[in-house]
Amino acid sequence: MSDAPQNLRKTTYRLYPTPKQALALGALLRTHQQLYNAALEERISAWTKAKLSISYEDQCKSLTALRRDLPEWADAANCSSQQMTLRRLKKAFDAFFRRVKSGQTPGFPRFKSLDRFPGFSFKTHGDGWRFTPEDNWKHGSLRLSGVGQIRARGQARQGGAMRSSEILHRNGQWYLSLTLDIGTPKRARTADGALAFDWGVETFLSGVTHATEANEVISIDNPRWWQADKDKIVALQRAVSSKPNKRSNRRRKAVARLSRAKAKTARCRLNWMHQTSAKLASQFALVATEELSIQGMTRSAAGTADEPGKNVAQKSGLNREILDTAPALFTSLLRCKVLETGGEWLEAPTRKLKPSQRCPRCWDVQKKQLSQRTHSCAKCGHTEPRDIASARVVLRWALEIEIETDGREPRQYGEHHAHRETPPLAPA
Ligand SMILES: [Zn+2]
Repeated sequence: MSDAPQNLRKTTYRLYPTPKQALALGALLRTHQQLYNAALEERISAWTKAKLSISYEDQCKSLTALRRDLPEWADAANCSSQQMTLRRLKKAFDAFFRRVKSGQTPGFPRFKSLDRFPGFSFKTHGDGWRFTPEDNWKHGSLRLSGVGQIRARGQARQGGAMRSSEILHRNGQWYLSLTLDIGTPKRARTADGALAFDWGVETFLSGVTHATEANEVISIDNPRWWQADKDKIVALQRAVSSKPNKRSNRRRKAVARLSRAKAKTARCRLNWMHQTSAKLASQFALVATEELSIQGMTRSAAGTADEPGKNVAQKSGLNREILDTAPALFTSLLRCKVLETGGEWLEAPTRKLKPSQRCPRCWDVQKKQLSQRTHSCAKCGHTEPRDIASARVVLRWALEIEIETDGREPRQYGEHHAHRETPPLAPA
């Protein structure tokens, strides 16, 4: 392999095995699950009996012996793929020992039932697997040793060199998760203009754009079907809890309906976020937002021991909304796409800049409660919706940063208003 920096992207294709291939895939999954559990058993007994930790390398050696002595193990699955399963266990144990070292008392990694076993991986392309994409990386077929040629549907946004793959089993469906090295990002950008955005509560996202001296406010609403999906899941959850007998068939069916609905919702949302972020990335050469700390946003609901949260119920509702709009996921999708198309991505230092408390016009900082949805400046009188105001602060910050990189004198955030007579961006 070359030393060139890798630019890895994961893409998922859904697999459509024939009934016979599905049986073979299930059998393969079972051998990996058995290997995982056996290796786990070995590690646990060594640790509990002698405080010995068995290494990944040790287990790879045992695997080689096992494959030599029991040919059914050698026939059952590809060797490097089995090693990947041992590596999966190694990762679980690394985390376990890290926590032991830091004085915690974590539980051992757990045995996995076939239902809970997520899948298995392959390393080098051609070693046990070969994926042949169709035109433009849309759909294709996967050749898996011991299973055959499986039809795959999906599309990679950008093709590349195949580095590794994972066969995933979720809710009775099979998927191929492909890791591609897409190399140096394409630099063919036609868009110009800048966008800064903030997360809304009522809207999905609020933004302010800048192109040739003019600002424009944009907002992207939560798709209406999100609420419908949510209602449906709540109803299905109720249906499950109304069937308390855990062994009943009716309950099992209700659980299956719930998990199918959840998976479908997640898929639709991801799809929508992909499309929305791709559209934004194609329109703007510079995209800026606040550094996002979901953890901080959710933690504030309960408050701390020193400072118990106020309006906990109301805030946790807000937090739910914030989490629901999945800002972290959307931000990372958008970031990837902006960088991929050769654009610039900036994250404003929230603590220093305080976008939600700063006036975008006079740059004065005034504390706001979370419930205060409008920015109304006591100093200069500038008034507009809170999310728009904070996006505008980020935009102004981002454009200044751009000027800095043009070799002009760098400025501190707080000095913006001192250096300028008039705000650089006219309020909408
Ligand atoms: Zn002001």
